[in-house]
Amino acid sequence: MSAINYKQIDAELAHIATVLKAPRIRSTYHDTAEQARDGGWTYEEYLAAVLSVEASARQASGAQARIKRAGFPHIKTIEDFDFMVQPAIDRAKIARLETSAWIAQGCNVIFLGPPGTGKTHLAIGLGVIAARHGHRVLFDTAAGWVQQLTHAHSTGSLPKLLAKLGRYDLIIVDEVGYIPIEAEAANLFFQLVSTRYEKASLIMTSNLPFSRWGECFGDATIAAAMIDRIVHHAEIFTHKGNSFRITGHEDILPSIAAEREHQIN
Ligand code: ADP
Ligand code: MG
Repeated sequence: MSAINYKQIDAELAHIATVLKAPRIRSTYHDTAEQARDGGWTYEEYLAAVLSVEASARQASGAQARIKRAGFPHIKTIEDFDFMVQPAIDRAKIARLETSAWIAQGCNVIFLGPPGTGKTHLAIGLGVIAARHGHRVLFDTAAGWVQQLTHAHSTGSLPKLLAKLGRYDLIIVDEVGYIPIEAEAANLFFQLVSTRYEKASLIMTSNLPFSRWGECFGDATIAAAMIDRIVHHAEIFTHKGNSFRITGHEDILPSIAAEREHQIN
């Protein structure tokens, strides 16, 4: 083939790549063609090789965009989690959740336990994996969700917000129990939980055992109805031990242990 033909082909492929919004076709076709000629590839193998570069780049940027939109306060991964430090958490159970199959089934995951024991870390870790698997994820603290729900309720847009949240495969509610929730807000929170029941997943973390959620939600009946729905199809983990944050500062442990007595055992 002459050099002129190459130029024409390149211009044509540049145009096609623009129309298809697939820039990697243009940037890879030439080098891949040389590889194909050297390796004696079939036309089909060549086509697959060029398109797969575009496809994996799109998948990766889709995952990046979903992770960004999820609103994680920081990125944590399961690989970074040291299961030796937290033997109360079953590595194999977490590994099963890493397939994200539970999200397709609308199941929930709950992490309970004292502060600093890796609840938020694992919640974010599973959230990041879900986003990589193509799921839409949103993260906020319980206080943050309450604020969003209360605002929507007061502006008459609660149904719209609940419908929007229904389109997310996974919603993460971090830190249930740190801030008391007014009875009216608890009702709105219950609506969030019940609209997702058996349809879409939740990850929740709390420093309080379920038996004390009534105190936090200011209404034992609502808390019980909510827990009922959340735990029906759920994997529940209970973290134990001292805070990872104070490792190396064990001299202050007695006061922290005393404080924790009031939270969870
Ligand atoms: P919690 O949500 O239970 O209060 P975090 O998940 O925020 O605790 O953990 C506190 C800090 O300690 C985070 O930086 C987290 O990454 C780290 N951490 C906690 N447990 C572990 C662990 N087992 N392995 C690695 N890092 C951990
Ligand atoms: Mg936390």
